[in-house]
Amino acid sequence: MAIVGRPNVGKSTVFNRIAGERISIVEDVPGVTRDRIYAHSEWLGQKFSLIDTGGIDIGEEQFLTQITEQAQIAIDEADVIVFVVSAREGVTDADEKVARILYHSDKPVIVAVNKVDNPELRSEIYDFYSLGFGDPLPISSTHGIGIGDLLDKVCAAFPAKGEEVENNTVRFSLIGRPNVGKSSLVNAILGENRVIVSNIEGTTRDAIDTPFITQNGDEFTVIDTAGIRKKGKVYENTEKYAVLRAMRAIDRSDVVLVVLNAEEGIREQDKKVAGYAHEAGRGIIILVNKWDTVKKDNHTMHEFEELVRQEFQYLSYAPIIFVSALTKQRLDQLPSLIKRINDNHERRITSSVLNDVIMDAIARNPTPTDNGKRLRIYYTTQVAIKPPTFIVFVNDPDLMHFSYARFLENQIRDAFDFEGTPIHLIERKRK
Ligand code: GDP
Ligand code: GDP
Repeated sequence: MAIVGRPNVGKSTVFNRIAGERISIVEDVPGVTRDRIYAHSEWLGQKFSLIDTGGIDIGEEQFLTQITEQAQIAIDEADVIVFVVSAREGVTDADEKVARILYHSDKPVIVAVNKVDNPELRSEIYDFYSLGFGDPLPISSTHGIGIGDLLDKVCAAFPAKGEEVENNTVRFSLIGRPNVGKSSLVNAILGENRVIVSNIEGTTRDAIDTPFITQNGDEFTVIDTAGIRKKGKVYENTEKYAVLRAMRAIDRSDVVLVVLNAEEGIREQDKKVAGYAHEAGRGIIILVNKWDTVKKDNHTMHEFEELVRQEFQYLSYAPIIFVSALTKQRLDQLPSLIKRINDNHERRITSSVLNDVIMDAIARNPTPTDNGKRLRIYYTTQVAIKPPTFIVFVNDPDLMHFSYARFLENQIRDAFDFEGTPIHLIERKRK
């Protein structure tokens, strides 16, 4: 869902309320921005993503242009739109301006009248019927009033999900800042493989995915090519929108190709984008594109690789491949690499084999002690895939130091092929 409305009605306060504590996890990766506009949330078991369009500034444009562009983004990106207004100011010209944009959409719009901090203010909501979106809902985001009712309404308005078709396609996306060569790469990849033309008509959301099949019969779907293709809208050139687009593509992918531009080197924005893919727990491959533009000797590739490793330390598990959309260098290796990383991302290890590895590791490097108390590891088991997630049952989780957890992760990586995927270790006290 997306939150829209003129400035100061309380959009980001509503956003933070709904995003709750879940958002703090994202902050661990260096370079991930604090002013967040995208989050995941859940209400009564229903998972959804959340966009604060108010956080997307459209360059130097004037105020009215900003809010109309933001409303347009909501229409393009969300299934449900929450239109926030303020009980304290009543209906303003700017509110009406936003409403006129939203009329052009057939997406459900819910009017949330914010700042209804006490029951006396409830009578203020009636004016907002004039916006033409049905019953306005009183909320107070600072006091947490009415948020549950709002989420009930939002969840009821989500379109019914069709049965997910189970198939063997590997879904991947290309992310990276503008001009690194994402669309050129997509075109080059599709040019070398057989694109599956779908005969399902009228699908808007799914039409942005392109399925294709390789010569040896492996099926892939490249996500979000429409986001890569330029549609010429003003907001598409803003950094925040690019980030938003990338995050939505990441959400829908098994494997994410982080594209860098060898010609220009590594920029701050590359790190942000890569950080999101890492936090989302997807399989990751780092693509250094435009390799044809670089003057090379025997050390060039190694040096560039060192640089990437240094700048993206948290992606130490991701393979790096040097490619060119122009000359098609190494692009033929890409499908099998994506498939291999996807296999690793969904790899399951049986508990007996896993525990042998952990016991060997402990024998070689004894568990740490703190104040005379030693960490004891009783049992380890894999509880999830995509990404592989392990629970380590211990006597006291506080005794598991970061460095020892890292050691265990490395032992697991040495024993099994988890290249290209993050793995999560969770310490839990044995009951
Ligand atoms: P945005 O520009 O729409 O994102 O608005 P913000 O979330 O930044 O909020 C604007 C101002 O309104 C801030 O000073 C908030 O503290 C205040 N505010 C937000 N929600 C409420 C509310 O429910 N009640 C009151 N009284 N103030 C609120
Ligand atoms: P996007 O914004 O990331 O989708 O980037 P584009 O695919 O639009 O590419 C931006 C520019 O880089 C275009 O002019 C491309 O022709 C050029 N380009 C893309 N890939 C390569 C490459 O591998 N080598 C060279 N020399 N140019 C490239």
